[in-house]
Amino acid sequence: MSTATEEHTHSFQAEVRQLLDIVIHSLYTDKEIFVRELVSNASDALEKMRLKQLTEKDVFEADRELEIAITVDEEAKTLTIADSGIGMNKEELVENLGTIAHSGTKAFLEKMKDGGTDADVIGQFGVGFYSAFMAADHVEVASHSWEKDSTGNTWSSDGATGYSIDENPDAQRGCSITVHLKDDMDEFSKVARIKAILEKYSNFVSFPIKLNDEHINKVEALWLKNKKDITDEQYTEFYKFTSHSFDDPRHTMHFSADAPLSIHALLFTPTENTEQFGMGQMEAGVSLYCRKVLIDAKPEKLLPEWLRFLRGVIDSEDLPLNISRESMQDSALVQKLNKLITKRYLKFLEKEAKNEPEKFLDFYQKFGRFLKEGIATSYEHQEQLAGLLRFESSLEDKGTQTNFAQYIDRAKEEQENIYYLTGQSRDAIENGPYLEAFKARGLEVCFFTEAVDQYVLEALPEFKGKKLVSADRAEIDLEDVAAEGKELSKKDSKNLIKFLEEELTDRIGYVESSGRLVDSPVAALTPKEAPNAQMRAMMQAMGQDMPSVKATLEINTRHNVIHGLSKLIESDTDTAKLIAQQLTDNALLSAGLLENTHQMSSRMNQLIEKLVK
Ligand code: ADP
Ligand code: MG
Repeated sequence: MSTATEEHTHSFQAEVRQLLDIVIHSLYTDKEIFVRELVSNASDALEKMRLKQLTEKDVFEADRELEIAITVDEEAKTLTIADSGIGMNKEELVENLGTIAHSGTKAFLEKMKDGGTDADVIGQFGVGFYSAFMAADHVEVASHSWEKDSTGNTWSSDGATGYSIDENPDAQRGCSITVHLKDDMDEFSKVARIKAILEKYSNFVSFPIKLNDEHINKVEALWLKNKKDITDEQYTEFYKFTSHSFDDPRHTMHFSADAPLSIHALLFTPTENTEQFGMGQMEAGVSLYCRKVLIDAKPEKLLPEWLRFLRGVIDSEDLPLNISRESMQDSALVQKLNKLITKRYLKFLEKEAKNEPEKFLDFYQKFGRFLKEGIATSYEHQEQLAGLLRFESSLEDKGTQTNFAQYIDRAKEEQENIYYLTGQSRDAIENGPYLEAFKARGLEVCFFTEAVDQYVLEALPEFKGKKLVSADRAEIDLEDVAAEGKELSKKDSKNLIKFLEEELTDRIGYVESSGRLVDSPVAALTPKEAPNAQMRAMMQAMGQDMPSVKATLEINTRHNVIHGLSKLIESDTDTAKLIAQQLTDNALLSAGLLENTHQMSSRMNQLIEKLVK
């Protein structure tokens, strides 16, 4: 048995209820942000309408002016924000105002559930339309879609468990949102209060805004204005309003060019990287305009994917207005814009790195990941990006960051390679088997300690003509150093290598003697072309099949252990074999290449047995 009431009543999706609970009870101390959210939605809907008008003929109320009309009523304690944008039909009301589709908001909710209620983090995220319930007892949305054959409806809710939708034949095209204010929120029904809020950003809305019939904004596109006429506050408000952000911009880049393309660009780097908070992958955030008309708010190909953290506007007069979004994305023009803006931005970062290194390091800490992504995916910007990498190195104190340019300055002119090592931490690298050989020769080694670094460096063959070479590779030719201890004779050395190769044939590819080692008797080196330990760990984590590698075993023929082993081959072959296996275990273990550890302890026990006999 269903009644009329049941038919038009809907429950909120569980996530929406959860979100509303947070919004109403704890989220923002700054209550006025809900006005900004609603005006920004109205502005979005109008931008979409403007674009529709270019391509569609059958538009409902085609002659209505594009504008935002705000009315406050102190007596009724209401605030109404009405726009003549694209509006929503019934299905869209259910979809857009009853569920949460945005993945970032979902991730945010997950965090909240886990008890990760960091006040700082919360402040970084907008919750859009639902923020109206911070101030409202009850919200009504009257809407008619732009589509001629659709019907008008009123969506209504108290923000608790659900909402209702009823047909409304009087609804005009667009959305009219009436916020019935809570008793202690009646400040938002005062003209002066709303006017003060709107003053901050209403000039960035490219449609007229009226407050109780008074026209209050001058429509202007900030990016077309002269830099000299814009204050820092205006830039900040513009950033917050257009990108729905809650932090301040850390960089503001405002420039124009006439050739090869006519562009006006206003770009911002946010202060915070929300991907670091585990909020999921960001969406592209630089909008594309043509002569003040929004073509696409989130064009994916306007900039490379690794610049998805950038916010702002690019306006190009060279774009054809009525081009479809799909073909626009692939147009040669957008590709040119992409290249040009990316280069400009990287130049900007280079300048900051040079002139304000502290500021750049702070940026790098939060956004360096994106630059690394760029190295691995954007070949044409690789060298510029590689120049921006920061890392520690064997010639710098712990905590001091250096870069490839400094490395090259310090290196001897004839040094052809840049050496690096990857590992979990500086300590792990310094205690590993590879560094000593380079240290003994005064060669600098760069330390990379992030999980992605191995992958990034594999993608980076060289920097300014110097090859990037991982210091754990067997093929590196290092000149001998004068070291203490006598070398094994040629004959003994040959003998030992033959013995080891036979004994270790299942585990080791080659045995070589070299002057590389200083303090260790042996070291396992990754053969050329084989994935090294870091790469293998990553492949394993991704569930990939691992090619089996046979490491190269390098022996230090000056070392006492090796001298002793050489003698044992004749006198006590069994013990020599045990020791050979054990040395191999040690070498593979410290190289991160030992896969089978259970044989190691039983061998160890046999050795001990021999010792205590
Ligand atoms: P967002 O703006 O980030 O998408 P919101 O919660 O602010 O998230 O809005 C949810 C959705 O509701 C919007 O994406 C849009 O589809 C729809 N919407 C909200 N306000 C309006 C409006 N004034 N006109 C048309 N659609 C709207
Ligand atoms: Mg919104």
